[in-house]
Amino acid sequence: MQVAIVTVGDEILTGDTENTNATWLCGQLDDRGVSVRRVTTIPDDVADIARVVNEYHAAYDAVIVTGGLGPTHDDRTLEGVAAAFGREVEPSEEVRTWLNEGDGYDADDLTEGTTHLPAGARMLPNEVGVAPGAVVESVYVLPGVPAEMKRMFEHVADEFSGEQTYTTTVEADEPESHLIDRLADLRTEFDVSVGSYPGQTVRVKITATDESEAERAAAWLRDRVETSA
Ligand code: ATP
Ligand code: MG
Repeated sequence: MQVAIVTVGDEILTGDTENTNATWLCGQLDDRGVSVRRVTTIPDDVADIARVVNEYHAAYDAVIVTGGLGPTHDDRTLEGVAAAFGREVEPSEEVRTWLNEGDGYDADDLTEGTTHLPAGARMLPNEVGVAPGAVVESVYVLPGVPAEMKRMFEHVADEFSGEQTYTTTVEADEPESHLIDRLADLRTEFDVSVGSYPGQTVRVKITATDESEAERAAAWLRDRVETSA
């Protein structure tokens, strides 16, 4: 399964908010064997949201959008997602009922728009905050507030799955440029994908669909690099 993540918010583009939602979602999806092909951040702008969601919906199995769910003037995400499908945003009975049944909210007291969803959307209840999320076809719209987003994702997490992979890492205490030939050999000798991430040492990440293949490849490499231990 291939997925794109779209994080919406001017505050991310100005550096005021760190995009922890994208990082967290990438980790969750990777753990489930789902391949994340795009992480894109766009402004709170209906046309931008509609264009990107429309493009990614055509290209990937699912799209996860976070941010801009609330009813304030800068929250345009539901409008943008509705526009991507040529639909209207309309009051949802499901949302109204859920809000009225919830802890102490009365849908009539909430800011206008809180009960609106794109036509035909499935509602995702917000157990931490107020504004509900939505699923339109394979586009999942989640809140921006990290705690709300995480809880809501957990509701739909089982809808995201892929081939299980196994990862092992080897720390090489050598300059990355010295490792090029050995990393190339590693990829030819074994049925693995290889990532190399330089820092204090070079962390080589070996991933395979077969656990023993990943372990064999790691053992092969450990025998051929300097390690700090
Ligand atoms: P609300 O209903 O509370 O307005 P919302 O779903 O509309 O929530 P936003 O208004 O976009 O979400 O953002 C709410 C807060 O969540 C922001 O102040 C920001 O700190 C945080 N936030 C938004 N997007 C992200 C993100 N991608 N990563 C981390 N934090 C984020
Ligand atoms: Mg908001």
